[in-house]
Amino acid sequence: MTIGILGGGQLGYMLALAGYPLGLHFRFLDPSPEAPVGRIATRITAEFTDRQALKKFAAGLELVTYEFENVPVETARFLAEQVPVLPPPAALEAAQDRLNEKHLFQKLGIATTEFAPVAGRDALDEAVRQIGLPAILKTCRMGYDGKGQWILRSAEDVFKAKNELPALSVASGKSKTNKDPVPAAFVLERLIPFTRELSVLAVRSRTGETAVYPLVENHHRGGILRLSLAPAPQLSRAVQEAAEDAARRVFDALQYVGVLAIEFFEHEGRLLANEMAPRVHNSGHWTIEGAVTSQFENHLRAVTGMPLGSTSALGCSAMLNLIGDVPDSAEVLAVRDAHLHLYGKTARAGRKLGHVTLRAGSPEQLASRLGELPGFFHRPEFSLDTVLRHSASARR
Ligand code: ADP
Ligand code: MG
Repeated sequence: MTIGILGGGQLGYMLALAGYPLGLHFRFLDPSPEAPVGRIATRITAEFTDRQALKKFAAGLELVTYEFENVPVETARFLAEQVPVLPPPAALEAAQDRLNEKHLFQKLGIATTEFAPVAGRDALDEAVRQIGLPAILKTCRMGYDGKGQWILRSAEDVFKAKNELPALSVASGKSKTNKDPVPAAFVLERLIPFTRELSVLAVRSRTGETAVYPLVENHHRGGILRLSLAPAPQLSRAVQEAAEDAARRVFDALQYVGVLAIEFFEHEGRLLANEMAPRVHNSGHWTIEGAVTSQFENHLRAVTGMPLGSTSALGCSAMLNLIGDVPDSAEVLAVRDAHLHLYGKTARAGRKLGHVTLRAGSPEQLASRLGELPGFFHRPEFSLDTVLRHSASARR
């Protein structure tokens, strides 16, 4: 059985690695000749809009899934005429645009941050009046890892952001040809002084079976995920259930199949949904060693209609992203129960090059193993020191 995957980055790479033991084969389509999956699977290098290439890609496939949420919806719909595409293209459509996503959450009764649409630079002042400062302005489309975002704390920040908006109206337009740039669309959100960030990973199979992983606590810096702790420390049953309930609502609304991630802010004891991803997610990498069944395997089980595997955690885990450069492998592997994953990508500032997962039997043991990691991980860009201080004071 050969599964087609749109996008050939590290998520696709780890999907294939999880699928080989199940006897699955993979074919990828990615515009970049450098996509990491080229090392381990058949890769077609073509634009997502190249219909000839899409036809060739789809021929003989059992189904198509995706590891990149900005695959054009038209591409998914075109492929769906030939072969099942899962999660359904409607999920891509909902998740690709921050406004659509927030409207979906609202419609489903899932609490979100306060927000206002911003059609362009001239509409910003009105949105700021409505939402107040501090706020965060985001492009509706194509943003990731904190790209296309401006934090607005003062009138001066608003003024500066306005000056930058016109340049973005082309960059964030749908048309890559620039013939007909779509007007930039933004969303302004209140900046939440959250207690912490949590995410839920849930999975629904073609058969309707569902399973949910324990919530994960996420630490970002500069808009990029640095560290995840799983299960999230001091997690109440009520918070876990609220997140599960949100995932179930999205599943039902979209007739969803596959792994779904929803990111939340925990604020004043409540969960506010920030965004969702209709795919396996960086905050689920810990599941490879830290859960009975990884998110990657469960995604494949779900889309092929096989029974889902247990989502229970095995002890507690920390996942640390390697961004921009990587530490010495031997120093990482010298730490007990540390697992290293390198994606085979060329180093570049801000790029996710790999991750490390540490597993332990208890939160105390995890904190002590985090402390044993080499100096590389004790740099300010990791939130590690904050986490260690926090866990030390929690024990006192
Ligand atoms: P991306 O698509 O880049 O992941 P997010 O909306 O998740 O976009 O923003 C990235 C990070 O920026 C979040 O994980 C969070 O740390 C911070 N952030 C985003 N929106 C808000 C907000 N409304 N209030 C406070 N922090 C925010
Ligand atoms: Mg995010």
